[in-house]
Order: sequence, then structure tokens, then C-alpha cells
Amino acid sequence: MTAPEPPLALLAELTHRCPLQCPYCSNPLELVQRSGELTTDDWRRVIDQAADMGVLQIHFSGGEPTARPDLPDLVRHAADAGLYSNLITSGVLLNRDRLATLDAAGLDHVQLSIQDSETETAERIGGYKGGHRRKLEVAGLVRAAGLPLTVNAVVHRQNLDRLEAMIDLAVALDAARLEVAHVQYYGWALKNRAAFMPTLEQIERATETVDAARARLAGVLVIDYVVPDYYARRPKACMGGWGRRFLNVSPAGKVLPCHAAESLPELDFDSVLDRPLDEIWRQSAAFERFRGTAWMPEPCRSCDQREVDWGGCRCQALALTGDAGNTDPACALSPLHGQVFELARTESASAPPAFVYRRYGNA
Ligand code: SF4
Ligand code: SF4
Repeated sequence: MTAPEPPLALLAELTHRCPLQCPYCSNPLELVQRSGELTTDDWRRVIDQAADMGVLQIHFSGGEPTARPDLPDLVRHAADAGLYSNLITSGVLLNRDRLATLDAAGLDHVQLSIQDSETETAERIGGYKGGHRRKLEVAGLVRAAGLPLTVNAVVHRQNLDRLEAMIDLAVALDAARLEVAHVQYYGWALKNRAAFMPTLEQIERATETVDAARARLAGVLVIDYVVPDYYARRPKACMGGWGRRFLNVSPAGKVLPCHAAESLPELDFDSVLDRPLDEIWRQSAAFERFRGTAWMPEPCRSCDQREVDWGGCRCQALALTGDAGNTDPACALSPLHGQVFELARTESASAPPAFVYRRYGNA
């Protein structure tokens, strides 16, 4: 196989610690404890190795990355290495001083998550009292610091009917971009799928709302939105293809093609504590397993879309078919597509069960 191009971006999951308890969190059920996290020096080395291999962007994520006191050091190290840095945060641990420190360290962009437009539901979903108000304040501080802001709204059956209000909120917060992200059913979200699965009617209304808002807000707000997998006709090109554009380093140092890949039990993921990042990217068995098209079964193998969507998502194929090597059943050409659609219809038609909150104790 020819050597892969260097990745565009590194998702640095600094920690799984987070004051929120979102039941749709895509973190694995087995969360890494603080004692198992990479050290500051480990992360500095990872950043240097990423820059050396041609990575252009670093996304500081988690868990909640601001739970790490060394975040400003790492932002500065990334800036010195020439990387564009993005902070993906719930915002609740930030204040004016901490933002000023991150700004001075060279942070380029902030991506702030919201759970809803309404305080009560937002805080019930996030499992954190006072969190919504705090987020609104932090959005103001981000813009006052002159940092560009993206709002990330995770949507599902329990808040999708307020999508228009979430779009208005993003405008009021002076965000340049809104990501309307349907829950993806990995990790904690898979455990809570029935509580979050929207109806087809909700999806259709949401699509109309986004189309209208895009026309109304052209030049004001960019809105990213795609129809969720269970109701889609074609799968997403998950991470731009396995091992093609992105790599993810977990809090413990495992190098993954995407943040959910640890759910694939057949794969052993190498650690930055044992091998250089570049060597793992180019040679590790886990990256090679689903890279390119040679691994594909039919109908992907002979499909003209195989280098467009790369067969969809391996984690979803495992979760829904029991085999990560199958075509993603989000694809209408998969023999299992009809079952997935029916599953979504059935789950969304029943009353939503109580949340299983993401907590260290009940993993
Ligand atoms: S989804 Fe919620 S619980 Fe998970 S890391 Fe983000 S803010 Fe924390
Ligand atoms: S058959 Fe495979 S390659 Fe073709 S559209 Fe479906 S998932 Fe994509």
C-alpha cells in the first residue's frame, strides 16, 4: 500500500473529566481516570510530532479540556509549533481571566456546546445546574476577547422542536458558525439511544428550518447540518475516511482514527507512549485495517461512491450489524438499511426512557 498523506488535524482528547453529564456523550463507557492521563510533557511531544508530520490544526477536546490546568501551556506549545488551535468546550469552567490567558497563549478559535435554547431543558440534559447561564456569559467573553466563536448544538427528539430558537441564540451570541449536530450513537449515546431518537417528522421539519435559516442568515451565520444516519439514504464519510484526514489521541495516549474507535474490540490501538505518532499513522495495524477500499465487502467494493463516503462509519457498522467490516447500514444499499430505519421509527414512537447520565461511577 502507498504511504498515506499526512493528516490534516489532530483531535487531542486531553481528559475524560467533565463537570457535565450529558447522556449523549460520545466518550467511551469506560472513562480514563485522571491518574491514567498523559502528562504535560507527553502532550508536548505529541504536538511536536504532529507538527513535524504535517498536521495543520489541533482541536483540544475531552471530556472538558479546560479541566486540565496545563491547557495554556499546551496551547502555547501548539502555537509555537505553527498549529492552528481550536478549543472544544462546554465553557462552564472558563472565566474572563482564563480566556485571556488562553488568548495570550495563542488560541485561535473556540467551539462552545449548548444543550438547548431553554435553560431548564438544557440543564436537565447536561446534568449541571447553572451551566446554561454560564455558557451564555462565556460566549460573550469569547467574543469580547476577539476570538471567533462556533456554537455546537447537539439536537435530538427532546430539543429538536426548538431548533429555530437555537439558531436565533447562535446569532444573538455573535457566533460566525453553528453546527447543528444530531446525536451520534456511540459510547454513552448508544446506551441512551431511545431517549434521543427523533421522529421522521421532526427531521423533516428541522431540514426545512435549516434551509429557511440559511437563506435568511446568509453572510451572518454559517449553519452546518446533515440528516442523521438512521434516516439518511447514504452514510457520512466518517472522519473523511478511516486514517485519511484525522487522528485522535485519547487521554491515555491511544492513537485512534476517530474518537469512537475504541468501541471496536477486534483492534489494538498503539500508544504515543510506545511509538512515534508518524509511525503509528503510517504503519499501525489498526489504521491499515480499514484504510482505503481494499477491505470493503459488496456492495461498497463495486460502488462508484466508495471513494466519496469510504463505506461510512465502522463503529456504526459494528453497533448495528455486529461486524465492523460490513457496509454502514445508514446506506440504503446495505441489506440491513430497512431494519435500521424501522428501529428509528419504533424507538422514536415510544415514550423516551429516563437518561443514563454519563458519570464515572456508573460506567
Ligand atoms: S458531551 Fe457533555 S459530558 Fe461529554 S464531554 Fe461534552 S460536555 Fe462533557
Ligand atoms: S454501497 Fe458502500 S460505498 Fe456505496 S454508497 Fe453505500 S456505503 Fe457508500
